[in-house]
Amino acid sequence: MSNKIWLSSPHMGGMEQKYVEEAFRTNWVAPLGPHVDGFELDLATYTNAKYAAALSSGTSALHLALIMLGVKPGDEVICQSMTFSASANPIAYLNAIPIFVDSEKDTWNICPKLLREAIVDRIKKGKKPKAIIPVHLYGMPAKMEEIMEVANEFGIPVVEDAAEALGSTLNGKAMGTFGLMSILSFNGNKIITTSGGGALISNNEEYIKKARFLATQARDNAPHYQHSEIGYNYRMSNICAAIGRGQMEVLDERVAKRRENFSFYKSSFAKMDGVSVVEEPLGFYSNRWLSTILIDKSMTYGIDRMIIAEELLKNNIECRPLWKPMHMQPVFSNAPYYGNGVSEELFEKGLCLPSGSNLSQEDLNRVVAGVSKALKSSKLTA
Ligand SMILES: *Cc1c(COP(=O)(O)O)cnc(C)c1O
Repeated sequence: MSNKIWLSSPHMGGMEQKYVEEAFRTNWVAPLGPHVDGFELDLATYTNAKYAAALSSGTSALHLALIMLGVKPGDEVICQSMTFSASANPIAYLNAIPIFVDSEKDTWNICPKLLREAIVDRIKKGKKPKAIIPVHLYGMPAKMEEIMEVANEFGIPVVEDAAEALGSTLNGKAMGTFGLMSILSFNGNKIITTSGGGALISNNEEYIKKARFLATQARDNAPHYQHSEIGYNYRMSNICAAIGRGQMEVLDERVAKRRENFSFYKSSFAKMDGVSVVEEPLGFYSNRWLSTILIDKSMTYGIDRMIIAEELLKNNIECRPLWKPMHMQPVFSNAPYYGNGVSEELFEKGLCLPSGSNLSQEDLNRVVAGVSKALKSSKLTA
């Protein structure tokens, strides 16, 4: 059996281990420490956000953001439906109600027009949403300029879920710097990893200071342990941050390689009927965290994404359907939803292909050959 090709596996640059050893040598084996401070500075510098707080995960960053926006039980929070469950779960942690909004076709992210309709309707029904959570899916920027316009019209804060989009920009501005606050993730499968971790970034120092405070058990400034608020244990450890510092040194290389993967897939699939990719609209720059394809089975003699997935899996190649939209998830079946059918169609047609920055040309060739073989099987039987 040929070697396993993963969807997106960790890819160390070389300096990570040295930084971890330094943390051991100096006994900074703790939450907090010089690598945490350094990693926060690296993140702020890279994105051009003023401040960053390194946290235990992207999910915890989003949880803290919603807490700081004062989201309370029964409040409503608008969330892109087409996303990973971690974009919506923190709404539920607060016993608030997620309001799911569908995507537009250009970027697969929250549709600004539907967003506006949803806000108007929620206000008519008696509640103004407390926050809006757009997502930059697979690294593709959401239409943030239009989204911010709608959000500003109604005075609703935006928390960008940029977990998949470190290194992506819109008109030269980093994703994660459009909203009031934004979250990043350094989970094992993301474009860079700290083995597990996340961050909150913002131009507003108060939010970042408050996030650090809440993430370290909300200890008041007193000689004894005193608390006037409920705290959390959400800080990033100095060991994880050491890995992150090494990863930041190679981030641009990682983005370049993932974009090359995408270009190769795009040119390879251009020759195959019924297989398409999503292009960057003008001014949009995606880190191409994951390369994805859409399969139109009306053009492939009935071969759909699952038949292709089975062929790839048989060849020891990991692949996944696109995120199943949140409004289709059993756990969120009662949540209000504003839809246009786009995310359902994407889910039905879409497949994520191996996209790691550590893939070889041979690996990429194997993926393309697998897709090609699955498509040809149809012509033999048609
Ligand atoms: C990975 C991811 C998260 C969560 O990040 P964690 O660090 O795993 O908690 C949130 N949103 C999206 C869109 C993600 O892909």
